[in-house]
Amino acid sequence: MTLTTSNVPQPFKSLSPPIMRASTVVFDSLADFARRKERQPDGYSYGVTGTPTARELERRIAELEGGAHCVVTPSGQSALMTTVMGFVRGGDHLLVSAACYGALKTFVLKWLSHFNVEVEIYPPAIGAEIERYLKPNTRMICMESPGTVTMEMPDIPAIVEVAKRHGVMTMMDNTWASPLAFRPLAHGVDFCIEAATKFFGGHSDLLVGCISMNDTDYYETLRETQSVLGQQTSPDDCFLVMRGLDTLKVRYAAQSTSTLRIATALEHHPQVSRVLFPALPSDPGHGIWKRDFSGSGCLFSIILQPAPEIAFNAFFDSLRQFAIGASWGGVHSLAAYYPAPLQADRAFSLTDQPVVRLSIGLEDTALLLQDLMGALDAFSQATTTGA
Ligand SMILES: *Cc1c(COP(=O)(O)O)cnc(C)c1O
Repeated sequence: MTLTTSNVPQPFKSLSPPIMRASTVVFDSLADFARRKERQPDGYSYGVTGTPTARELERRIAELEGGAHCVVTPSGQSALMTTVMGFVRGGDHLLVSAACYGALKTFVLKWLSHFNVEVEIYPPAIGAEIERYLKPNTRMICMESPGTVTMEMPDIPAIVEVAKRHGVMTMMDNTWASPLAFRPLAHGVDFCIEAATKFFGGHSDLLVGCISMNDTDYYETLRETQSVLGQQTSPDDCFLVMRGLDTLKVRYAAQSTSTLRIATALEHHPQVSRVLFPALPSDPGHGIWKRDFSGSGCLFSIILQPAPEIAFNAFFDSLRQFAIGASWGGVHSLAAYYPAPLQADRAFSLTDQPVVRLSIGLEDTALLLQDLMGALDAFSQATTTGA
């Protein structure tokens, strides 16, 4: 027997959304089953297109982004890839920022270019000059603001203006700002992508991505792409993202305040050569950030004074409050390292020095600062002693 709300013995109401699991979706009649495809893009026909738990998460995210539709996917990377795969075909020209998320660049360069897609990387801090990169077959522009790790600020409204004039689609990875600080759809971007893994989930314990949009035809295409690529998002993870969203605003506010204090303090430290964080007036992207964004989140990068590799080991090994690891946006502070060759070899590279990226969590700000000052002391000592 199938359990439905009509045969649950007692009325039941809860504040949390139900977790509904299914590979098989059950139909009332053969006629219903035969017409199951007509239920798309919103309805339920097989587990891969989603269950009511995924739909509820999609509804909540679309509302946050100010969009008409949302498709959730099993990771931020899958959301980026699904957006490109939904619309870009062999023979198309695809523009991708040099500061887009690394796995997206790897995907387009190592996979799509073998499917006869003409992939071109453009400089991250671009605006209306994107027009020079357009070709008659340009299909889509992939943007991220600010850029992953190096934090360059593109001028999104200027790029969108050019793209619309030429009938080119735009997608933007908005994970850094989240919809609390920037709403790409309101600026005319076609697809807004978030790694819900980061701020939305907020606890470093899940992977989920999402694509929000206004256009209904685009939505139908992306629902089909998501399901044909077999990208089902676990209803349990959808539930956890919804739980995270309940506290997103307060986490965002607290982490942003702490982050701004820490970044400002680090800016004046003699061992710090540069803080990459558009919320600081000294950052080259500050003007654009101030014009378009209403918040600055929990993630920034620093470039330290030139030093031997051993000094970076001393810096990281000295950290007690920060865990060493990739990803960000959770309640625990994290530090990650991007070595010099990686930076130097990148197209339109910002620096030939290593970059240290910090994600500020909900720990006490003074404790975090103290930890970083200690790490900078260790860095300085290792630099001077060379050991
Ligand atoms: C982490 C991240 C992604 C990828 O998200 P996953 O869920 O880890 O796949 C994409 N874009 C940005 C900006 C990220 O920080």
